[in-house]
Amino acid sequence: MKLIVQYLKRHIGIFLLSTIFLTMEAMADLLQPTFMSFIVDEGVVHSDIRRILYYGAVMLLIAMIGAFSAVMRNRFASITSQTVGKEMRQDMYHHIQQLSLENIDRLRPASLVTRITNDVSQIQEFINSIMRMMVKAPITCVGAIALIMIQTPKQAPVMIGILLVVTALIQGNIKIGYPRFGTVQQKLDKLNGVSREFLSAVRVVKAFNAEEEETEKFDRASLELAQANIAALRTAAVFTPLINLTVNFGIVLLLWISKNQNSAEIGKLMASVNYMTQVLFSVTMISNVINVAVRAIASSGRIQEVLSEVPAQQWPDQPLKPDIHGEITFENVSFAYAGAGKEALKELNFSIHPGETIGIIGPTGSGKTTLVNLIPRLYDVSAGRILIDGCDVTQIDESLLRSAVAVAAQKPLLFTGSIRDNLCWGKADATDEEIQRAAYTACAEEFIQKTEQGYQTWLGQGGVNLSGGQKQRLSLARALVRDPRILILDDCTSALDAQTEADVLHRLRERSGALTVLLISQRISAVMGTDRILCLENGLVKGFGTHEQLLKTCGLYRTIYESQIGGGQNGR
Ligand code: ADP
Ligand code: MG
Repeated sequence: MKLIVQYLKRHIGIFLLSTIFLTMEAMADLLQPTFMSFIVDEGVVHSDIRRILYYGAVMLLIAMIGAFSAVMRNRFASITSQTVGKEMRQDMYHHIQQLSLENIDRLRPASLVTRITNDVSQIQEFINSIMRMMVKAPITCVGAIALIMIQTPKQAPVMIGILLVVTALIQGNIKIGYPRFGTVQQKLDKLNGVSREFLSAVRVVKAFNAEEEETEKFDRASLELAQANIAALRTAAVFTPLINLTVNFGIVLLLWISKNQNSAEIGKLMASVNYMTQVLFSVTMISNVINVAVRAIASSGRIQEVLSEVPAQQWPDQPLKPDIHGEITFENVSFAYAGAGKEALKELNFSIHPGETIGIIGPTGSGKTTLVNLIPRLYDVSAGRILIDGCDVTQIDESLLRSAVAVAAQKPLLFTGSIRDNLCWGKADATDEEIQRAAYTACAEEFIQKTEQGYQTWLGQGGVNLSGGQKQRLSLARALVRDPRILILDDCTSALDAQTEADVLHRLRERSGALTVLLISQRISAVMGTDRILCLENGLVKGFGTHEQLLKTCGLYRTIYESQIGGGQNGR
């Protein structure tokens, strides 16, 4: 709630203005029945046409003022709620950009998406509804009750009695109903999560024929949401008619008493009945607003959680800006993922010289991706330190570090846009020559030229219209366009056939010169030709040296070698 107030404060002027219009509208609504009673009691009863016309004209004027106010406050409400929504979304998005992968892991991407879309909508709806009702409902409610007492004072005790019953009913509704709406929100979240997970993994799901399981998961989440909704709506289904019934019963009682006591003029009685329905209307409004408020409060809590997530990484205030040649040193580096019980990397100690090409090999889950992600600080070490050219990476300027180290990730992520857009994504001002040179090295040029529109070929979201190998080559070319000092290839030739992979590696060596390359691969053939090879298992370095050295000294390396090549069979 504090968060909503904080955002509304920025628009306090427009908010107050809409309050004024709301008050005017409420006044206009309240005046109508009173003038109606004048028309009946003074005009109709005495057959005075002039009075009827006079009061009629006044009523018309009031109605026009009311309508004008309603239009204005609706406008203001829409503007404010949309603006606040926009600001919240932007603030969240910018904050998320500041967060490290560790934060994102914790908040979960799917949940971040629902927070940016669904939760912000809830808050917009709440702002909209308070700006449409907030002052109006209480004013109408209190005003109508006061006017009933003035118009028909003798019936006042009955009215108060009825109102007490109505108040009790509303309280009951809040107590029983609103926690149930909280559950609805949770279930909706879960359903969103399940569908997002399915949609992002739809290819894998199909490939593994796991549609049935996924459908079952979805059905379960969907059923839970429906049940929660039914439970929540059931309370509304009991209380709403009960409240209506009570008020209508009050009207009947009012008429009956008046008839027996013969105490009220017919016009005043009509007005009181009218006010009674206004009371009912505003009471319903108030409980609707509370209903929306409950959801908005839950949503604002979830948005606040994102906004107050403290970035897990700090960048130095006075960063070092060394000339980066590409020397990398790991000193006693250990790393554990947040929440994971065991360390993914344990006490790593090694040094890589500038311009060296290092192969990294090891079974899946041995920590290869984790190791290379530490270098550009996608994650920070848990213990020890990593030096680039003698400088601790945590002390190096963020943009310098990120431009010096380029990663072609294991799962290539391409963006909607042309091939060219994607290639110069890390370097907006890249020249055609640089782009073509990078594409050549990555062996991407051949297939790009075969497409009808060449570099202008449009890629769908995530590059869906490309094969896995094509995506990998584009992602590698994109890393090369940035002309980094340190190039990390995280198993990004895995989807290429052996010949193309060999070509890529050959062209890389041709080009690299002063470039330090870390080449992760599952294939011994890819790492065999590198200067030195780091052999990892369970987060530990099992061996580090040339191919020949490792064959002699490292059991794990020899096993991998024999299983893939040495035994005469191709291990791929
Ligand atoms: P490799 O690249 O060699 O296959 P990884 O570096 O991806 O291995 O993983 C090393 C270990 O860390 C594995 O046990 C894996 O389950 C774990 N791991 C990887 N990524 C995460 C993550 N984001 N959160 C928690 N654990 C992770
Ligand atoms: Mg990996």
